[in-house]
Amino acid sequence: MNKVIVGISASHLVENTDCTSYTYAKVCDEYVRSVQKANGVPIILPVIDDLASIYHQVSRVDALILSGGEDVNPLLFKQEPYKKIGAISSERDAFDLALIRYARELKKPLLGICRGAQMLNVANGGTLYQDLSYIEGSYIGHTQEANRCELVHSVDIKEGSRLHGIFGASTLVNSLHHLAIDEVARGFVASAHARDGVIEAIECEGEEFILGVQWHPEMLASRDNGSMLGLFSALINAARE
Ligand code: MN
Repeated sequence: MNKVIVGISASHLVENTDCTSYTYAKVCDEYVRSVQKANGVPIILPVIDDLASIYHQVSRVDALILSGGEDVNPLLFKQEPYKKIGAISSERDAFDLALIRYARELKKPLLGICRGAQMLNVANGGTLYQDLSYIEGSYIGHTQEANRCELVHSVDIKEGSRLHGIFGASTLVNSLHHLAIDEVARGFVASAHARDGVIEAIECEGEEFILGVQWHPEMLASRDNGSMLGLFSALINAARE
């Protein structure tokens, strides 16, 4: 059977030395290892700004992962930046928006992780909370101080959702976000919630495999968490259908 090629969206890493500055195209290796462990072939998609070339990037892969990273620019969901917004990258926002658009056009399964889930929501018309402190009643520590591979909070999963098919009614996750999904985009449902009501996953209502999780399954799957690996396997299986 042909192997499924999974494109992973990159970000920029800028390194300043004494005499110069280097910009690298970067993907955290845990995404790469998780895809390989799930029997897919990982390919890194560097941030570029030419739309026709981005279209080609997407057309050459069988499935896509939108990786985590910077905060999403609030202007994209018609809000001014509040005081607690962190670092943003308009270059990366534009790249991710194009990846999402072409993935839908070309019917490629898509998994958004952390920032990737937030971009997925914003790209389809949803909004975000710019910081968890702006959410009334949110009491859970979503920005864990513990090692990032520790499972720190529960999520309850909506029955009948794609995510429920992977994890069942609930699971434990790690949590490294300070933004969160507010209004869910049209055509999507919130398929997992933390116990304080914070949305932890969204997915497309139709047949397409378009799913975003707020936690970091790659940090867990690349080690020995079988159910988190199942998320990557589900993406790869969707690409085979
Ligand atoms: Mn969380």
